[in-house]
Amino acid sequence: MPNKYEIAVLPGDGIGPDVVDEALKVLAKVGIDFNFQEYPCGADCYLECGDPLPHDTLDACRRADATLLGAMGNPEVRWPDGTELRPQVDLRFKLDLYAGVRPIFLYATHHTPLRNIVSGEIDFVILRENVEGLFAAMDSGIVVRDESAIDSMVITRTGTERVVRYAFELARRRGSERKGRSVTSCRPSKVTCVDKANILRSMAFFRDVFNQVAENYHDVLCDYAYVDAMALYLIQRPQEYDVMVMENMYGDILSDLAAGLVGGMGMAPSGDIGEDAAVFQPSHGTAPDISGKGIANPTGIILSAGMMLRWLGHRHEDDEAITAAERIDRAVGQVLKEPKSGTPDIGGIMSTGDLGTEIAETV
Ligand code: ATP
Repeated sequence: MPNKYEIAVLPGDGIGPDVVDEALKVLAKVGIDFNFQEYPCGADCYLECGDPLPHDTLDACRRADATLLGAMGNPEVRWPDGTELRPQVDLRFKLDLYAGVRPIFLYATHHTPLRNIVSGEIDFVILRENVEGLFAAMDSGIVVRDESAIDSMVITRTGTERVVRYAFELARRRGSERKGRSVTSCRPSKVTCVDKANILRSMAFFRDVFNQVAENYHDVLCDYAYVDAMALYLIQRPQEYDVMVMENMYGDILSDLAAGLVGGMGMAPSGDIGEDAAVFQPSHGTAPDISGKGIANPTGIILSAGMMLRWLGHRHEDDEAITAAERIDRAVGQVLKEPKSGTPDIGGIMSTGDLGTEIAETV
């Protein structure tokens, strides 16, 4: 285990720098030694130096033990062809961060718009394949004679195998963590393959590969849902899901829907994980509508910082880092159970800074 974890910090644009400050406040309280180095990246960085993801920043993310990212982009700053800057997506491709891990957990009953669901009952992970699928068309879509446009879905055997394996390993780990906590209603581990195998060949192939990988995990239940039906099931019975694995665009869409079940974008953390690097960031974007108002919810990035600690802990067999991650999780739950505790998006009356401080003091 390293004496000190080197963390590249990319605050970015909009509410990114505000929420990053709160995550750093919390990380300063968990008793783990970090060296934080900040690097420029994002739309403001592009305006200053002409590149939204400078080489030195990319290199720093590659060398660091992990990267903590705020949010990036500005709808008013675009490439000459009219598309938005998306350095956070480019990072995934350049560092081959194939596993987009998006945990969804209901910390307080009053955060969900659903009836008859109580805190802790929604507890699943959307695992989004991060570097192929429909997003693979990002720089290669074509427009023909201003008449037709084509973006292709790319599904490879290698890319699907590794993300499906990740899903089963994650389901196993979650199962043993539930047992360790002796959760009374201990659910069996389950992986749901979300696809559109009834219509698209690429998706039928995805499901075939899923089934082949599943052969090695007889201890984990397998389940299947078409992506359109999954949007319905997530509203009707979100309690039934554990880990769901899907291609890139489906994961992009369903993770916003899922965030809505537990309080909105401000409550959703994420980790983009590869073999040699990992970037942790909230699922939300730069939220231009609330930027500069001091009301952005920092919970998503604070939970992402907790995910970073858990990932570092498993990677370096560092039990203290895993314990620190659990402390962050518990502190968030404890602070947010009070109805007025929290930022306005979850019905609270606190500012970004006050909520971050409260969680940091509870850790
Ligand atoms: P992007 O395309 O980069 O994801 P976006 O504007 O489509 O950006 P978000 O920035 O995530 O999406 O914002 C979606 C909605 O969620 C907005 O109404 C925004 O104010 C709200 N939101 C996002 N993040 C937070 C947050 N941390 N706290 C409170 N509200 C948030």
